[in-house]
Amino acid sequence: MGYFLHADLDAFYAAVEQLDNRRYRGKPVIVGGVPGDRRAVVSTASYEARKYGVRSAMPIASAYGLCPDGIFLRGNMKRYKEKSREVMDAFSQFTPNLTQISIDEAFLDIEGTGRLFGPPSALAGKLKDAVREKTGLTVSVGMASNKYVAKIASGMSKPDGCFIVEKGAEEDFMMSLPVDKIWGAGGKTQALFRKYGYRTCADIHRIDEKSLCSLFGKAFGTFLYRAVRGEAAAEFDGTRGSRSIRAEHTFEFDVYDESVIETELMNICDRLTRRLLDSRRQSGTVTVKIRYTDFSTESARETSGRPVSAMNDLFGRVSALFRRKYKTGSGVRLIGAGLMNLCESAGGGLFDFEDERSKKLERCIHEINSKFPEAALKKARLVKPPARSGYGEAAPPADIKHAEAVRQPVATDVLAPSATNS
Ligand SMILES: [Mg+2]
Repeated sequence: MGYFLHADLDAFYAAVEQLDNRRYRGKPVIVGGVPGDRRAVVSTASYEARKYGVRSAMPIASAYGLCPDGIFLRGNMKRYKEKSREVMDAFSQFTPNLTQISIDEAFLDIEGTGRLFGPPSALAGKLKDAVREKTGLTVSVGMASNKYVAKIASGMSKPDGCFIVEKGAEEDFMMSLPVDKIWGAGGKTQALFRKYGYRTCADIHRIDEKSLCSLFGKAFGTFLYRAVRGEAAAEFDGTRGSRSIRAEHTFEFDVYDESVIETELMNICDRLTRRLLDSRRQSGTVTVKIRYTDFSTESARETSGRPVSAMNDLFGRVSALFRRKYKTGSGVRLIGAGLMNLCESAGGGLFDFEDERSKKLERCIHEINSKFPEAALKKARLVKPPARSGYGEAAPPADIKHAEAVRQPVATDVLAPSATNS
């Protein structure tokens, strides 16, 4: 039984920009794209921009409509990763038991740190000070007896706050919340909540587990039953526990060429494989998501008794599923893939590969990539062709639009705690 702290940086990308550029401070900063970037969406809005109603995931065009005087930036991922490493270093002074779950969030198991850092509230203050001194950024902190509640608590404390849920108070804390605070219940689930008239967690708390399972499916019903009671749901304890991983890509222009789509799928599978390796989990269920020009969206999944063994294996399954689902000739604006029902890897190590050689190769690539992110080893198909130089060694793309679509990725990694919201 531990005690957990969830630390989440405030408006991270925008805050880094404001730190690096004095003239952005105190102004509405919107990171994600500049007006005119087709299909760009807001990835982070500074708190000044949020006052205008600008929110994450909103199209840049809408954000511009709300906040025409805002500072719009495409962002600098390399710089954000650098700051992220500084922040994680600062966190790691407080406990060796640190689980980073995204570029700007981590769980710290702080059980037993009392003698060093004092009671939870004192530790939270020291952590916030350390982050501010070392990185110039502010962080919001939530603390609770399990990661799930700690994560929700940090959200309540934003920005630059600290919210502590005492041991024994988890259930009352959850009951006091509106349903949109349930971590793991995304858009589709929220729509169901509205349909059933659930406004607060207390509304869900009144329903027995069996009924929740019949309304939401067995796994998610059980999750909800436990979540509104503030009980740690192991499978929702962040990265290691998340039951699914997904990644998707929005093309700059609608793409009609299957080979362009499949190359992007390979890119996605490459990222998924690395995350699967990191999670030390395995899965035999792959998913594919296709959003067409008219926004209609199709999802498909396929389960095999044999867990995914390597990047090539994953890509083989995903592309076969894609080809079966894809309405040939239709324009695609977004493509995604994922792995569901992740479970602990047999044997405790990395997942089971049938082929020792490809296992070694994938492991090597993965190790090199994690040590030298700049070097990033990739499959040949994923290496972008050199820009047209006039020497003719790179064949000009048959369709410029498609080539642009590949070169200007608007990619999102989605860590989905919930399998039902994919
Ligand atoms: Mg954050």
